[in-house]
Amino acid sequence: MFKSQYLNELMETVIKRNPGEPEFHQAVREVLESLEPVIEQSPEYVTSGVLERLVEPERIIKFRVPWMTDDGKVMVNRGFRIQFNSAIGPYKGGLRFHPSVYEGIIKFLGFEQIFKNSLTGLPIGGGKGGSDFDPKGKSDAEVMRFCQSYMTELYKYISADVDVPAGDIGVGAREIGYLYGQYKRITNLYEGVLTGKGLTYGGSLGRKQATGYGLCYFTDAMLKAQGNSFENKTVVISGSGNVAIYACEKATQLGAKVIALSDSNGYIVDRNGIDLAAVKEIKEVKRGRIKDYLEYHSEATYAEGCSGIWTVKCDIALPCATQNEINEESAKALVQNGVMAVAEGANMPSTPEAIAVFQGAGILFGPAKAANAGGVATSALEMTQNSERLSWTFEEVDAKLHGIMNNIYNNASAAAEKYGMAGNLVAGANIAGFLKVADAMLSQGVV
Ligand code: NDP
Repeated sequence: MFKSQYLNELMETVIKRNPGEPEFHQAVREVLESLEPVIEQSPEYVTSGVLERLVEPERIIKFRVPWMTDDGKVMVNRGFRIQFNSAIGPYKGGLRFHPSVYEGIIKFLGFEQIFKNSLTGLPIGGGKGGSDFDPKGKSDAEVMRFCQSYMTELYKYISADVDVPAGDIGVGAREIGYLYGQYKRITNLYEGVLTGKGLTYGGSLGRKQATGYGLCYFTDAMLKAQGNSFENKTVVISGSGNVAIYACEKATQLGAKVIALSDSNGYIVDRNGIDLAAVKEIKEVKRGRIKDYLEYHSEATYAEGCSGIWTVKCDIALPCATQNEINEESAKALVQNGVMAVAEGANMPSTPEAIAVFQGAGILFGPAKAANAGGVATSALEMTQNSERLSWTFEEVDAKLHGIMNNIYNNASAAAEKYGMAGNLVAGANIAGFLKVADAMLSQGVV
């Protein structure tokens, strides 16, 4: 329940209009809670209907994706692209290929993307897409045929100046390559319509590392504000995909010891510190399971199930797998074991109850919209390089990413303080992200 009757009614409308989409409701509720003090001070956001317009996507595209398996069976998946808000720039946001994908997941991700993209300070609007296709266990040829079919519909709605998708869960370098190839074949355009591209065809150095590195730069800024750092800290990271791997790499470079990683089957603990070269070989080359780590390090341990990872004692926890992976019980276990900071690499990995536990215990908490914005920020840098037809060095891109993450921390922190919620980066990130988009919407009239 909100104090404001207006917000209660708006939330009710969102639930009624988007039935059976609890992840989307959760994402909207969190933002509206943060905005309560803002609309008290600035009623023009209410009278102009900015909030009603923000919670409704500008466009939802939903389509059939037929494709054929290697043995000739016809399969049908569902494709989505949600173009949520273009007030400050072309729609930008990843594509997720995972069997759990349905409209509500893409809507929650697209909604959050609006604020995240605004926080980067770069001119990008919010969008998201994907499919319930599962690339796991498929041959390269099957993944290629799926991606070609998906793009054969999607190309009608995207371009370098309209909507620029990227990767997310299940969409990495291989999938982006196939998607790009098909876009180019159909449109005959060589343009920066996707980000996360390979380095030989317009990709940016540093993009692969950006979300994980950015997460650590953000966490470092949070720690430094309290006179602390990653130095000699024990870190637990969930997931073992793109974000988790590069968070592990940067945390280690900053002096921490990462002792646990997971996938959707279970988690490994290596008290000597994770051997990232082994993980990269298992995940990036062999597309194997995290359990295979034991073949490289028999002294490590493996346990089935994902949530057990949060019972491993650590100083810093970085959830980098998926939404709602930390519930109240897991949050309590982390706090009881003395965690000092939690920063979200995944999107919405902590349930509202878990966030309340972290905030109640007074530990540092970096919300996803701020903490994982480094990926999309570097995607925007890839767009800039594509339109300049230039490639920047890794060092240039990394330095820009570092600066952006520090700015995001400072802006979220300042917004929280301005609205009487000092230290609450959830509220600060939502408010700072909102204000820029809302002011652009006010200037552009009722559209
Ligand atoms: P990947 O597909 O590379 O890796 C995902 C990892 O999370 C895998 O280890 C996967 O395990 C695990 N995982 C996925 N779904 C579940 C589940 N339901 N339960 C438990 N574990 C699961 O994806 P990314 O690393 O790119 O994305 C991870 C998170 O980061 C997502 O929330 C994404 O939205 C977010 N993010 C990604 C960005 C990017 O640049 N890639 C940018 C910003 C946010 P398994 O292999 O067993 O499925």
